[in-house]
Amino acid sequence: MVLKKRAQELRNEINIHNIQYYVHDNPIISDSEYDQLLNELIQIEKNNPELITLDSPTQRVGSTPLSEFNTIEHSLPMLSLANAMNDDEIFDFDKQVKKILNTENEIEYTCEPKLDGLAVELVYENGIFNHGSTRGNGYIGEDITQNLKSIKSIPLKLNDENPPSKLEIRGEVFINHKDFEKLNQSQLNLGKQPFANPRNCAAGSLRQLDSKITAQRPLKINCYALGLISQTQFERHSDFLKQLPKWGFPVNNLIKTGINSEFLIQYKNKIENLRDDLDYDIDGVVFKVNSIIHQNKLGNRSKNPRWAIAGKFKSRQATTIINNIFPSVGRTGAVTPVAKLKPVNIGGVLVSNATLHNQDEIDKKDIRIGDTVIIQRAGDVIPEVVKVILEKRNKDTKKYNLPNSCPECNSIVLKPDDEAVSRCQNFYCPAQIKGRLKHFVAKPCMNIDGFGKKLVNQLVDENLIQDFSDIFKLKLEDIQKLERQGKKSALNIIRSIQLAKNTNLSRFIHGLGIRNVGEHASKLLEEKFQSIDNLFQAQYNDFVNIHEIGDVMAESLFKYFSSKENQTLIKKSILLGIKFKQIKSLSSEKFTNLTFVFTGSLSRLKRSDAKNIVEKNGGKVTSSISKKTDFLIFGEKAGSKLKKAKKIGISIISESDFIKMSK
Ligand SMILES: [Zn+2]
Repeated sequence: MVLKKRAQELRNEINIHNIQYYVHDNPIISDSEYDQLLNELIQIEKNNPELITLDSPTQRVGSTPLSEFNTIEHSLPMLSLANAMNDDEIFDFDKQVKKILNTENEIEYTCEPKLDGLAVELVYENGIFNHGSTRGNGYIGEDITQNLKSIKSIPLKLNDENPPSKLEIRGEVFINHKDFEKLNQSQLNLGKQPFANPRNCAAGSLRQLDSKITAQRPLKINCYALGLISQTQFERHSDFLKQLPKWGFPVNNLIKTGINSEFLIQYKNKIENLRDDLDYDIDGVVFKVNSIIHQNKLGNRSKNPRWAIAGKFKSRQATTIINNIFPSVGRTGAVTPVAKLKPVNIGGVLVSNATLHNQDEIDKKDIRIGDTVIIQRAGDVIPEVVKVILEKRNKDTKKYNLPNSCPECNSIVLKPDDEAVSRCQNFYCPAQIKGRLKHFVAKPCMNIDGFGKKLVNQLVDENLIQDFSDIFKLKLEDIQKLERQGKKSALNIIRSIQLAKNTNLSRFIHGLGIRNVGEHASKLLEEKFQSIDNLFQAQYNDFVNIHEIGDVMAESLFKYFSSKENQTLIKKSILLGIKFKQIKSLSSEKFTNLTFVFTGSLSRLKRSDAKNIVEKNGGKVTSSISKKTDFLIFGEKAGSKLKKAKKIGISIISESDFIKMSK
């Protein structure tokens, strides 16, 4: 009996930690403490199999694979939503709702992002997860109970002392971008085919007959709708959404409630702008009439409810024709095939070029001049070809192959075995020279205002500049004599060059365009080496010993800075007036990789001084406590942060101990 009680205690505790982790994203114990609880439960159940319950967290993965899925009939149909393709259709929806409800009053709606995953239904009986299914055709779905159980964010037991005897919850199963990339990387490492996109991967994972495979996939769920429920009644949909996390279901954190159609349109625009910053795919928003009484009054059409609608985002795809394909040469010599398109409007932007990436991509998609293709433009990414519509291909098209010689300088083009791109091998190829200079003057690098791509092209074509040091030799008359350059703009450019001479080492390093070395790495190098002379003298080991710099980058850094030719160019620039601002130097590295949080009022140090001490010694100060915090330093009247730190088990030290520690 003691063991039975302990097992139940463990289940409850694990359940609570699951909710903290998956619903609130706020774990209060470490992973290893969690594992300890789970292992204790596994041991008890192993020695006493009669104590195993259906809702035990040990029962998430089934032991035997299924031979096929059974079907399950939904007790209430899972209808699809009608679409509003533009703002007018959202206005019409709101008007229609008011008309049917016979009211002049503004209607309250809940607005939710529409996740691009797989809709499922979870059925609980007396608080215990009983079965779950796919949406299927809306009336009958597939029984994927065992697979759903393996998703840790789905509660096996409701966190409710008096659960409804029957409860049906609907939600979307999906995969985060970050998890998806990790998964694909491990697929590649295992020599397996990567998944096409998060949605396909989520769908495929849910339809595995062996739930052990599903359990290895990073599936998540967001819940958003109610099927059948006994006893309890909700007055508003938003009340139901508030109840979900209390039961233990994750809910999307962008859901808002508001009044009238203007609010709906604002919400849609806001979420559409956020779209590319989210870590999951969405394809629109959903508006629901908030009052349940109103929902019932509005009822359903044959296929969709009258009280809800999906607001579609602007299309990101369009169909057009490839008029031509031409190779373009970048600053590293990479030869990229670019498709010249019959101009097409995608989401309000006229698109006339699309990247074809490389020869492999062209071969894989079999892209040819004259083909009708689907083009996609998403966020700031260069438009690309999704697929060729083969049915529309003309008979006389030919396969496209990149030329063997550089289209800019006629030099040989080679493709290293371990790379996907071919490169022009001529360092003095005009396209490469121009590319390097455009990179050098760009905003994240030397940030020379007004020094645009056209000017670079003109100056290189006129033989006025060849490498970055030449920029600092330019005179007013050099620029003034170029076509379409007046005295005023020439003066401005000369002034910008003067201003840009006062720079910092990281901008300059970034501007050099060393292979594999970006903005972040450049900052690291500035911190570690402090001066250009130190970089000249650095050995391969000095680079590779820096955390975050791998051997490929170290190799190209060593090659670049040890080259006499490159050293000469850099020294020339310094003679021409380039100056690097000194950065704060570290007084020690004793706090390297340590994160500090301060709370309460300190009596001996000012907050800003305390922060300085941490940073001078290589540490970091953040404002809130998380599992990543190493030390909490508390002063008088320390409050919630102190409590939280104690809970998570972070080292807590007093101000005077901190001062001792930093000496
Ligand atoms: Zn070339």
